Amino acid sequence: MTTAAARPFDARTDATLRSLEESGQYKHLHMLESPMDAVVKMRRPNGKSADVLCFCSNNYLGLANEPRVVQAGIEGLKRYGAGTASVRFICGTFEPHEQLEARIASYMGTEASYTFVSCWNATEALFPTFCEAGDFILSDELNHACIIDSIRLTPVIKKGVKKGVFKHSDMASARQKLQAAQDDPEVTGQIWIISDGVFSMEGDIADLLSLRKLCDEFGAMLVVDDSHGHGVMGDTGRGTHEHYGMCPGTPSFDPANGTVDFFTGTLGKGLGGGAGGFIAGPKRGTELIIQRGRPTLFSNALPVTVACSANEAIRIVMDEPERVQRLKANVASARKKIGAAGFEVLESPTAICPIIVGDTAKAISMSQRLLELGVFVIGFGYPVVPEGTARLRIQMSAAHTEEHIDRLVEALKEL
Ligand SMILES: *Cc1c(COP(=O)(O)O)cnc(C)c1O
Repeated sequence: MTTAAARPFDARTDATLRSLEESGQYKHLHMLESPMDAVVKMRRPNGKSADVLCFCSNNYLGLANEPRVVQAGIEGLKRYGAGTASVRFICGTFEPHEQLEARIASYMGTEASYTFVSCWNATEALFPTFCEAGDFILSDELNHACIIDSIRLTPVIKKGVKKGVFKHSDMASARQKLQAAQDDPEVTGQIWIISDGVFSMEGDIADLLSLRKLCDEFGAMLVVDDSHGHGVMGDTGRGTHEHYGMCPGTPSFDPANGTVDFFTGTLGKGLGGGAGGFIAGPKRGTELIIQRGRPTLFSNALPVTVACSANEAIRIVMDEPERVQRLKANVASARKKIGAAGFEVLESPTAICPIIVGDTAKAISMSQRLLELGVFVIGFGYPVVPEGTARLRIQMSAAHTEEHIDRLVEALKEL
C-alpha cells in the first residue's frame, strides 16, 4: 500500500490562518440582511439581526438603494436578460454599454470611456496595454493595490518597461525620479505618472496641478485613479480633477490648469455602488484598449443590469448636484462634532474622516465596542497603515441625517 505524499499547501495554509487569528488580523465577514443604506440590518454573532448605523461604506451619495437605480437594473435585466455569454468584441456588447460609456465620458469631461467588470480590471488593462519597451511608470507610494499590481504585471507582458515609486505626494521626490529616468539610456519611450485622486486611508488628495506641471515638463502622461473621488470631489461631484478646475465642461474649469490624460474609476462606490470600472480619456486610448486590452479581450463585459443601474446613478449625480452638496454638509458637520467631542480627525476635503487612535489592538476593540453600540465603523491598523497610526475610518454619506451624526458622536463619547 502506498501512502499519499504530503502536500505543502495544507500545512502552510493552516499556519497562515492560525497566525492571522493569533495576531488579531483575521477578517470576519459581516453579513448584511438589508440593502446598503445609512442604517443596515446586520446578522450578529448570536445569530440575531440588529439595525446598525453604517459609517464604513463607500455609498457616498446614497445611490446604492436609490429606487430609480434599482428600477433601471430590473428593466435592464428584463429587456436584455443576464448577459451575452460572450466577450465584448465577439458578440458581448449591448446598447446599454454604449450608453453608459457615453455617459461616463460626459460626466468625466473626456472624449471617450470604456467599461470593465471592476476598476481593478480597468487598471490592470491600462498599463500592460498602453506601455511599450523603453517606457517608465512612476507611482505614488500610497497608490491603491490595483495600481501596484498593474505596474508589477506590465514588464512581464511588455519586456523593457521600467518603473519607479515617489514619496507620497512629494513633488521633489517625483521630480528627482523623473530626472533619473531622463538620464537613463534604457528609458527611450513614454513616461507615465499615476496617482490615486483621493487616498483611501488618509482621505487626502493628490496635488494634480503640480503633477500636471511636472508631466508637461518631462513630456509625461498623467493617469489618475479617482475611485474615492467620483461623486464626492468638486462642486458637481465629478472628481478630484473638478476640485482643481481641471474638468472640462464644469464651471470651475480653467484651461490654464491643464487636464488629466487618462482616468480609471469604479462604479462600485459613489456612482451607484454595484460594481464595474472604467478607463476614461481620449478615444485613441479607449480604441487601443478595445483592440489590445487583455482583461476585455478575454473576459466578459459588465453585466447589463449593472450597466443600466450605473448609467441611472451617474445621470442622477449629474442632474441632482444637491446630493453632492448634502454630502459636503454632512462631512462638515461630522468633522465639527467629532472634533468637539475631543477626537483628532485628520483634516481632508474628502468624505473620509480618519480618527487616529494609535495602537492597532485599540482601534480594533474600539470598532467592536462601537458595533455593540449600533454604529458600524471599521478600525484599520498595521500593516494596512503605518505602525502607531491605527485609526477608525469614518465614511460619510449623503444618506446620513443630522440625527445619525449625533448618534455616531454619542457612541464615540461612550468609548
Ligand atoms: C476601491 C478602489 C478600486 C477598486 O475598485 P473596484 O471597481 O471594486 O475594482 C480601485 N482603485 C482605487 C483607488 C480604489 O479606491
